[in-house]
Amino acid sequence: MSQATFHLREPKNEPYFSFAPGTPERDALQKELKRLKSETIEIPAIIGGKEVKTGRLLDVVCPHNHGHVLAKAHLCGEKEVAIAIEAAKKAQASWAALPWEERAAVFNKAADLVSGPYRMLMNASTMLGQSKTAHQAEIEAAGELADFFRFNSWYLQKLIEDQPFSPDGMWNRVEYRPLEGFIFAVSPFNFTAIAGNLPGAPALCGNVVLWKPAPTALYSNYFLMKVLHEAGLPDGVINFLPGEGADVGNPAMASPDLSGLHFTGSAATFHHLWKTIGNNIETYKTYPRIVGETGGKDFIMVHESADAKVIATAAIRAAFEYQGQKCSAASRMYVPDNLWSDVRKHLEEEIAQITVGDIEDFSHFMGAVIDKKAFDKISGYIEYAREAKDAEIIIGGDYDDSTGYFIKPTVILTTNPHFKTMEEEIFGPVLTVYVYKSTEFEQTLDLCESTSPYALTGAIFARDRHMLKKMSDKLRNAAGNFYINDKPTAAIVNQQPFGGSRKSGTNDKAGSIPHLYRWLSMRSMKETTNPPSDWRYPYMG
Ligand code: NAD
Repeated sequence: MSQATFHLREPKNEPYFSFAPGTPERDALQKELKRLKSETIEIPAIIGGKEVKTGRLLDVVCPHNHGHVLAKAHLCGEKEVAIAIEAAKKAQASWAALPWEERAAVFNKAADLVSGPYRMLMNASTMLGQSKTAHQAEIEAAGELADFFRFNSWYLQKLIEDQPFSPDGMWNRVEYRPLEGFIFAVSPFNFTAIAGNLPGAPALCGNVVLWKPAPTALYSNYFLMKVLHEAGLPDGVINFLPGEGADVGNPAMASPDLSGLHFTGSAATFHHLWKTIGNNIETYKTYPRIVGETGGKDFIMVHESADAKVIATAAIRAAFEYQGQKCSAASRMYVPDNLWSDVRKHLEEEIAQITVGDIEDFSHFMGAVIDKKAFDKISGYIEYAREAKDAEIIIGGDYDDSTGYFIKPTVILTTNPHFKTMEEEIFGPVLTVYVYKSTEFEQTLDLCESTSPYALTGAIFARDRHMLKKMSDKLRNAAGNFYINDKPTAAIVNQQPFGGSRKSGTNDKAGSIPHLYRWLSMRSMKETTNPPSDWRYPYMG
């Protein structure tokens, strides 16, 4: 065992490439897209470091070109979960015993791989499999993912330095143990970075993990799993289990060795998983830690002192980038009547210039929504609005799934602040606007605060400082990530720790020191240098 205290220097956020015409990165990315598209790969499960092919196959397709099969993925069930639990248990003791810096070295190397030699692979696979534009892929599949691995390693170093007070004659220490058992990491389709952080953060802390990626993000997630192994992650520490939710979830959560759930996805799925854990509570050897980040109904609240052009720009980026499929995407906006005609004019003019299409054509601002189920759900909301008496579609409203699952950026104007699309998470490129009387600002703030069960992100716009303070106070619990004169999306690791409360999750803030505590179990140790040899206390004299 080494006898030195090692130090990681404070990381910096990974800078992004622009992919502007004429840059070498643009060329490299286009080549990588072409290379990946020229073959159909097989995606096995990876259990205990070994590839496992179940023969139950799922076609992994491009959402913007659903006739193109990128991969055939082997789906797991009860049998593979049982093997994975054994593999994880086998890997557990030696991984937990490794000094923190050895584990950090693996994740730092993984960060350098995804932002270095495999940057174009991570970007291109995320673009093809999840239909992200070059920019949307770059900021997360390379940038945010590397940030998660680097900053979490640095946070772990800072965290374990924290030690209790020791009075004279005593040495108090705490050590930070990984949890006994395995963590079940269940990731969503929409961010490759989140898919990496869900198994990555617990593993960095010394835990072993069963990772169930989303079936619609398997392509990039598989490459990421391979990168982790190349970075030196020992076999069995993270086990990659492609599969449909319940097929993997039920046997994993029935295991007495479940020690934690690390989830990001919809609130409905999280409720189901939490209930399942509740029902199995007698079975577990330890109370599982439950960390979940779920949905949002993210707002933009505008005061009359705000700038119309700034609001329209923020709304367009926040509502339509990545087709509105960010948990932080703006989906309801409150605009005063004396500003609305200007805001509307800008929205109409700018949205008319947005094109939606194949992400291989870099001129598009938007690609396709993730799959048929999402397409049907989002278009269902659009049709609902089209038929409604208290709403009208003022921009967009068109959709077509003949080649890919394309939906045009859509703005609904409603006279009803409780209109369905003002309240429910749609997870698509649909923004609903409620125009309020500028004299009813206070009542509208109340509406904004209480309309949705979620509390993930929100943005306020005003020039008037008193009003910014009032809005900030009133909306204190309405969003875990709150933006002042900025759009409510694009949180950056180590700058805006991310997460929400109410029905948006447990707000454990991915990319922060408090988050890592959830994957550690403290042991307090007290050592007395001169222990007493008489049991009597002085007061007894
Ligand atoms: P989803 O709930 O449909 O699926 C998430 C994951 O859960 C997938 O891997 C899915 O296969 C799995 N799953 C479903 N049923 C399961 C079961 N019975 N057992 C085990 N696993 C099961 O969500 P999605 O469509 O992938 O992602 C979109 C949702 O995620 C949106 O609601 C969005 O707001 C949310 N999200 C939240 C955040 C955040 O930080 N708050 C970030 C990204 C996405």
